Amino acid sequence: MRTLLVEDDADIADDVARALTAAGCLVERAADGETAWFLGDTEDYAVVVLDLGLPRLDGLSVLKRWRAAGRAFPVLILSARGAWTEKVDGIEAGADDYLAKPFEIGELVARVRALVRRAGGHASSVVTIGRLTLDTARMSVAIDGAPQKLSPLEYRLLDYLAHQHGRTVPAGELAEHLHGAEDGVDVNAIEALIARLRRKIGRDVIETRRGFGYALSGA
Ligand code: CA
Repeated sequence: MRTLLVEDDADIADDVARALTAAGCLVERAADGETAWFLGDTEDYAVVVLDLGLPRLDGLSVLKRWRAAGRAFPVLILSARGAWTEKVDGIEAGADDYLAKPFEIGELVARVRALVRRAGGHASSVVTIGRLTLDTARMSVAIDGAPQKLSPLEYRLLDYLAHQHGRTVPAGELAEHLHGAEDGVDVNAIEALIARLRRKIGRDVIETRRGFGYALSGA
């Protein structure tokens, strides 16, 4: 899951980035509101964690601008404890969830996962599509009920496809979500990754839709 983390406190940002990365997110960071606004306006994220107190442009203004521009990714806002008016303002500005500082990292990760799940139309952390079962809380995959040993990248690819409602996903978009925009879009690497994955879990779990991209069978 390509995730934007907007936090100007470097210690908090380090902790959160580490935890989200361990949870399978591809984390990109911004430490001020203007950078955050630009990234959210031009890049495609599965979820955004947004601190409200930011230099250059406050988080609430960033969120309002994104929503005004039709950017619909789920946003979890972070704010100082007890600032309940910020919570109300944040929800009204289009935030999907709210966490007061200081927070438990585990709770933040659980909430981020829940947001991504809901955005993907899944109410539970276990998603079954065709022969594939994906447990986003455990980051595990089973085929016909048999657990599979996958690399983090292989897991993230299946996780991304599972959250697309059966939409055909172009290889370029997969490359962007798995590797981030700054590395450039390497479609060959995605084809190699999918070939490797098919050798592990069977050829028919991921469909190739010629000229368009990839989708999970049965989605
Ligand atoms: Ca701050």
